[in-house]
Amino acid sequence: MSDLSLPPASLPLGPDGPSVSPLGWGMWRLSGTRTEAAALVAEALDSGITLLDTADIYGFDGSSGFGAAEALLGEVLAADLGLRRRMVLATKGGIRPPLPYDQSSGYLASAIDASLRRLRVERVELYQIHRPDILAHPAEVARTLEEAIAAGKIGAVGVSNYTAAQTAALAHFLSCPLVSTQPEISPLRIDCFENGELDQAITLGLRPLAWSPLGGGRLADPQSQRDRAVAEALDVVALDQGVSRTVAAYSWLIAHPAGIVPIVGSQRPERIREAAQALTVRWTREHWYAVLVAARGERLP
Ligand code: NAP
Repeated sequence: MSDLSLPPASLPLGPDGPSVSPLGWGMWRLSGTRTEAAALVAEALDSGITLLDTADIYGFDGSSGFGAAEALLGEVLAADLGLRRRMVLATKGGIRPPLPYDQSSGYLASAIDASLRRLRVERVELYQIHRPDILAHPAEVARTLEEAIAAGKIGAVGVSNYTAAQTAALAHFLSCPLVSTQPEISPLRIDCFENGELDQAITLGLRPLAWSPLGGGRLADPQSQRDRAVAEALDVVALDQGVSRTVAAYSWLIAHPAGIVPIVGSQRPERIREAAQALTVRWTREHWYAVLVAARGERLP
């Protein structure tokens, strides 16, 4: 049985960009006081996680709260100036409630500025288009992003929830490399393995950042027959290597050759800390494919 490789200690984010840890930490679910948020940020950094992912819409509950998660992180960063140097900061924009999406140049440029203001930083290392605006021409989106790079507001550009064709179109018009893509990937969400997105990431040198790597928590408490089958396949490796199922799930993603960075979504310090164990879990092809087959619900051809 051939073992799959363990991840390197850090992974490049674009040809000229910073390196990031093989796990990220996400702030979709971040809330609470500045002290509580600061403790989570510190826990992620102390656990070796350097990529921190947020978005302007995090905190939005349908009527208010747009920008709340960025603003909370901004308070944390302003209170402890040393933290900023320890992280690769990523945010996203381009969703504009009550509209679905808006990536017109006027709005997108103002959204970048607003994110920086709330985060209380002059620059983020990675700015991602959260979901594609199908009414925005990719050349217009590219121009806005290039201007933000030229102004020193963003270090690099990524996409999220783009089809492979949408990613190719934006990359075509950008004069700088696109450095990341952020689809939903988990042992319960396996589309990317076969729809060309990860192959494209490898070809274009995009770092795949996996959102909801535990299926939004469903893997920890599987309810459907399919979810339970996937959980059981993960448990085989978890038991064998003395880790939890959720750690096995992160490591299953990490074992893919595209260099997937799972974005840990837990807002509990002990679970963020535990996630780091994923870097030591070894997968065999046999066990890796067993999880995939459980997720497919049928054998591979
Ligand atoms: P997830 O890891 O799939 O789910 C995290 C949820 O599972 C939390 O509510 C967590 O609760 C719960 N959970 C239950 N048992 C757990 C265990 N044993 N270990 C860890 N978590 C457990 O990730 P996610 O929060 O859905 O998404 C992660 C990140 O992806 C977000 O923060 C965001 O940065 C990004 N994201 C991006 C998009 C996009 O469109 N680009 C969409 C969604 C998310 P506790 O907090 O109580 O541990």
